Amino acid sequence: EAKTGGHSHYQLFDEQMQMQVTTRLQIENELHRALDHGEFCLFFQPIVAAATGEVVSVEALLRWQHPVKGLLSPAEFIPIAEETGLIVPIGTWVIEETCRLAQAWSFLRDTHLPLGISVNLSPRQLLQSDLVDTVKRIFSTCAFDPSRIEFGFEVTETAVMNDPEAAASTLQALRELGAQIAIDDFGTGYSSLAYLKHFPVDTLKIDRSFVMGISEGNVDQAIVRAVTGLGHALDLVVVAEGVETAEQARILRHLEVDLLQGFLYAHPQPAEQLEALLLNACRVTRSA
Ligand code: C2E
Ligand code: MG
Ligand code: MG
Ligand code: MG
Repeated sequence: EAKTGGHSHYQLFDEQMQMQVTTRLQIENELHRALDHGEFCLFFQPIVAAATGEVVSVEALLRWQHPVKGLLSPAEFIPIAEETGLIVPIGTWVIEETCRLAQAWSFLRDTHLPLGISVNLSPRQLLQSDLVDTVKRIFSTCAFDPSRIEFGFEVTETAVMNDPEAAASTLQALRELGAQIAIDDFGTGYSSLAYLKHFPVDTLKIDRSFVMGISEGNVDQAIVRAVTGLGHALDLVVVAEGVETAEQARILRHLEVDLLQGFLYAHPQPAEQLEALLLNACRVTRSA
């Protein structure tokens, strides 16, 4: 009996493993198809000036319009894309598409709306030795002019810490192409503050987890105050992510955070909708 029990136990384990492998393989195949068939799209979330609420830039966020499962968020497929390496071609598509839109939106510059646009770079992308060449090629193919619209890359501390020296030289080379560099989810990674001193970085994005509790406790306030102070001492722009309430925004302004991003201002939205929002913002700014 015991033997049978053990056997069925293994069998169950096997089936679960098998299922995980199948699902993974299935998603991997589907990701290939998604790339070929243009099933990815980008949503854009505005980032506003803390002082005025004006949109100063937007972050491109990847979505997958799955033919059966509907619109999927990055959490549902980025980990597998990262493991399989498919994040590299997907990420290249993200940069190309963002550049194309940035180019299309550069007219906003003439309406005196300062606009930046940023994309997320995965740890694997950051380690690609040809990342800089890829970006250079994309910038020149779409005749993209970073002096008209600021183009930014967001990387996490963890991604940077995989190989700090290589990351620093890659990010420096991206900066030389005219791009801005932001550290994303700042405070959640596993990093030494010392690296910031020598690192080619322009912006710190304080992770949503510190913003969430900011109206309740002194601890999160202390952390945000410290990070903002550090950022400003290093001449960096400080952004708070995940701002959902007016109370959080008030405290963040009081703590002198420069820029705010979150559902309080706008959800990530399709390009056409964002464009309408920007045009409307221009009109408001002009008539004010
Ligand atoms: P992230 O770069 O930190 O992006 C911010 C995430 O917070 C987005 O989730 C956004 O929708 C969400 N968010 C913004 N404001 C609020 C808020 O007020 N409340 C809450 N609860 N959430 C808010 P999303 O779009 O699901 O993306 C999740 C993560 O997936 C991103 O985190 C980024 O790490 C990754 N990601 C997104 N697009 C790409 C991409 O093109 N390439 C790579 N490699 N990663 C990407
Ligand atoms: Mg980001
Ligand atoms: Mg972030
Ligand atoms: Mg985050």
